Amino acid sequence: MSSIFAKIIAREIPADIVYEDELVLAFRDIAPQAPVHILLIPKREIATANDVTPADEAALGRLMLVAAKLAAIEGIAEDGYRLLINCNEHGGQEVFHLHMHLVGGRSLGPMLAK
Ligand code: AMP
Repeated sequence: MSSIFAKIIAREIPADIVYEDELVLAFRDIAPQAPVHILLIPKREIATANDVTPADEAALGRLMLVAAKLAAIEGIAEDGYRLLINCNEHGGQEVFHLHMHLVGGRSLGPMLAK
C-alpha cells in the first residue's frame, strides 16, 4: 500500500515542495520540530532503511547532496543541523516510505531523547 508520501510525489495531496529532480523530492515537514524541518525522499518507494538495495544507491547518495544544498539555501549550514532516518518501531518511524529529516535553525541538544 502506498504511503502518504507517494501521494505527495503524485501531487494527489499538497505539500510545500522545496526541491525536486528525477530521483528525489524534498518538502517541508507538516509538523516542524525546529525552524527548518525538511523531509527528503527517494521517488522510488522504499518502505524502510531495511529495504534498501544496491539499485537505490544513486537516489540515496542524491539525498545527501540535496540535504547539504538545502541546508546552505536555508542558511543553516554553518551553524549546523541534523540529518536523520528513522527505521521501524524502535526508530520511531511513522511513515513507511524511507525519508531523511533535515532539521536545524536552533541548537538541537543531545542526539537522543530518553
Ligand atoms: P518519521 O517518524 O521519521 O516516520 O517521520 C514522519 C514525518 O512525516 C513526521 O515528522 C511528520 O510530521 C511528517 N509528515 C506526515 N505527513 C506529512 C505530510 N502530509 N506532509 C509533510 N510532512 C508530513
